Order: sequence, then structure tokens, then C-alpha cells
Amino acid sequence: MKPEEFQALCVPPECTLHAALARMNQVARGILLVLGPDGRLVRTLTDGDLRRALLGHLAETSPVSSLPAQPPVTVSEAATAAGVLALMDRHLIDHVPVLNAAGEPVDVIFRRELSQRIWLSSPHLGEEETAFVEDAFKTNWIAPLGPHVDGFERELAAHVGLGHAAAVSSGTAALHLGLLLLGVKPGDTVFCSSLTFVGSCNPILYCGAQPVFIDSEPQSWNMSPAALERAFDVARRAGRMPSCVVLVNLYGQSADMDALLPICERYGVPVLEDAAESLGAHYKGRSSGSFGKLAVYSFNGNKIITTSGGGMLVGNDAELIARARKLSTQAREPARHYEHTEVGFNYRMSNVLAGIGRGQLRVLEQRVQQRRRVFDIYREALADLPQVQWMPEPEGMRSTRWLTCFTLAGPDAALRADLVMKSLERHSIEARPVWKPMHLQPLFKGAAYFSHGPDDDVSARLFDAGVCLPSGSNLTDEQIGRVIDHLRRALILAEDRRAAA
Ligand SMILES: *Cc1c(COP(=O)(O)O)cnc(C)c1O
Repeated sequence: MKPEEFQALCVPPECTLHAALARMNQVARGILLVLGPDGRLVRTLTDGDLRRALLGHLAETSPVSSLPAQPPVTVSEAATAAGVLALMDRHLIDHVPVLNAAGEPVDVIFRRELSQRIWLSSPHLGEEETAFVEDAFKTNWIAPLGPHVDGFERELAAHVGLGHAAAVSSGTAALHLGLLLLGVKPGDTVFCSSLTFVGSCNPILYCGAQPVFIDSEPQSWNMSPAALERAFDVARRAGRMPSCVVLVNLYGQSADMDALLPICERYGVPVLEDAAESLGAHYKGRSSGSFGKLAVYSFNGNKIITTSGGGMLVGNDAELIARARKLSTQAREPARHYEHTEVGFNYRMSNVLAGIGRGQLRVLEQRVQQRRRVFDIYREALADLPQVQWMPEPEGMRSTRWLTCFTLAGPDAALRADLVMKSLERHSIEARPVWKPMHLQPLFKGAAYFSHGPDDDVSARLFDAGVCLPSGSNLTDEQIGRVIDHLRRALILAEDRRAAA
């Protein structure tokens, strides 16, 4: 709800029934809030309350305070959408005011919005997926392997300008194979971006290796060249070089390859590019995911294109990708019987899902445009709020804006970001913090970490002050508008709260 709309819901106890009725018609929300002189909620007024009062012979000129008292049903600012809905059902009501700790109403939640949840990033099918999947059924090619798997691999590799691709069951599986193929063994160390999803680094543990986490830089939110340089310097002096660097491209944006790759090259350490979130992004005209010795894409349900679940390992080294295919199908040796000399995995993508992937790949560029447009709408609508600092898009990079993310500037950013996300959640709008950095995760307690500057932990700051907004390519303008209206009010309220504190 827009800030002025909320103001229009509020009336004083002296307000006449006539004036209340007029206001009720004007705001057309089916509810008014009666506020005492101290700003606290005295009661709510519904259409029904007013109608009953007038039928009960109260004069139109009587104040609303002459109505029989009725304690309002309210929720606190910590309420969730699910909790609010349960309360509405219990009391058979369609709107609930939200009170702050002082008992002042700060918001109203309506039943209608709770039934129309707005997701962070939901799957968005195109027109051709069904035809590919039907083909898989018609030809009885439901098993892993099959023409759609080959087709999807070929088409994706061509799309990103690489020679080879191996389709697997998830991005995580692709990362696991990538690490093994780059020679990561038990006891090794692997450098990895700290600001990422845990799927980037769980496979390091599968290999029995230890992650060393590298901070972000503020310009791209991706791996800091300064931190990487220091990590290498320390590793060299300790005589313990990493076997590989997992370089993550976050939220649809490439890392600064021109700064990072020469450092890895100088130390002779291969890069495994985690492009799970950046399919469709460009760095200086080249596809994100085409920079590492190997790279990984994900087609999980929340990614820019999806096969419901799936991943791809890509690269220009035909031999490595052929080995990935072998390892992903239980490492079977070429023989009529089942012959095995090494450990394999059941990681192959199925022909049905590859069919979905082929259809999705055809709309990838459209999805990039749609997500960028969502970002542009947010940016323009909130341009007057200087506390909102969007994830930057440095010169020469084209982000897909897979997720629209911002950090809040100014003091107590974490507190305000928390208030904003809670407020959106009450209205059934899914907003999330920026990834919690891996060096702050209990899972990786004790792991080595190199921050951007000696006293500058960039990823921790981004986590504290960051918010990811609903960003799906299938959001309607009406839904984006709903997010913007609630967000604007939540941002202003959070600012007021800090000013008052
Ligand atoms: C989604 C994601 C993964 C894992 O991909 P899955 O297909 O879900 O296994 C890895 N890294 C990053 C950065 C991701 O966002």
C-alpha cells in the first residue's frame, strides 16, 4: 500500500459516522483505523460496523467513539504471512492492522494479497518445452542419455561460445565433477568465493578438500582481486598452493575476469567458474562461464532458465568433458559387460529434462531482457530514495539481473534491512537477505578467510545490509507495483524508526 493510502485509512475518534462512511467509500479498502490522540489504535471500523450503527438509530453526526467498544484483532511486526492468514481464518476477518511495539498501527494486511504470493524467482516456461518433452515420451526416450541430452549439450555450448558440455543432474553435481577433473584430492585446499550459495563449496567437502574463502570487492560483489592476491601470497609462503579456484559469478553478474584470471595464471592454478547464477551474462562481450578451465551452469527451479533440476559442465577441453560424461554415468569402461576401474557417480541428466532445457534455452535471451526490465522498473520507481544502493553493474559487464539486489546505506543498515524484509513477508512478498558468506557459516567454522582489505570485510557488509527482491521474468507489472508500494513504505518507516531511536 502506498504511504498516502495508509494515511487515508486513519481517522480520529471524533470523526462522525457520516465522514467515516464517506472516507470508507473513498479509500475502498473495507476498513478504517481509529487512532487515539496518542497515535495508538483504538479500534478498527468496517463497512459492517458503520451499517449496523446507522441501522441501530445512531445519528449520522454521532462520533465513531459512540459505537460499542470492540477490541481490535492485530498482529505485531514480526508476524508472517502464514501466521496472519491463520489469524484471519480464526476470526473470520479479511484485514488485520499491524502494530509496532508502542501500539501504533504501521500497516494493514489484506486477505486478498495473502492468496497471491509474489516469489523471489519462480520458473517461467516458454512455448516449446512441451513439444520436446512430448517427443521424449513418444519416442520412449525417458531414460538418461538420448537425443535431447546431446542436443541440449550442443546447443548450450554453442550459445555460450564453447566447444563442449556435459549435462548432469544439478549444478552441484557439475561442480563436484569439475573439481575431480581439475585434480582436487583429499587434503588439498581450494580457494572459493565466500559470498555465494553453499552449493559452490559443498563439493569441495565431497572431495575431502578444505576451502579457503576469498572476500568480495564492492564494485561487482564478486571475488576481490586484492584478497585473492593475498591468499596466494600466503599459500606460496606456506608451501601449500590450492589445487583450484572456484570463482563465483553472483546474482547474474560476472566477476572481474581481467583482474582475477592473470593472478591465477601467474600461480598456475586452474579456475572452475561457478556460473550457476550468471547464464546469459556477458563480460566484455564474452559469455559468463566461458572463462574458467571448466565452468558450471545450474538449471534449478529458481535460476534464469530451468529444467526443474539440472546442471551443465562446460569447457573447451574435449577430453575433460568426455571424462565428465563417463564419471557421471558410474564410470563404466568400454566393454559389453559392466567393467569398472574407478569411482563413478549417477549424475547424468535425463532425456526428458534435457527436452525442457532445449525449450528454455530458446527463450534465454528473452528472460535476460525481462529480468533486466524488472530491475529497471525498481530502480526508476525508487530513484528518490538515496538509502537504496543497487548492486553495481561495472563498465563492460552485462548483468542478467537474475536477482535485483540492493544494500541500504547509512547507520543500522542491518536493522533496517530486517524491518524491510519482515514488512514484505507480512504481505506475502518473498524477499531474502544477500547470501550469508561461507566464512560466517557454522559448517565452515575455522576455515581460512581473506578479506578485501585488512579491516574491510565486504561480503559480511553486503550480507548485513543487503536485500534481494522478487525478480522473476514472469512477474506482472501489477505485482512489481505491489512490491514497490510496500517497499517504499517499509523503507520510509525503517528510516523514521532509526531517526527516532
Ligand atoms: C544454484 C547454485 C548452485 C547449485 O546449483 P544446483 O543446480 O542447485 O545444484 C551452485 N552455485 C551457485 C552460486 C548457485 O546459485
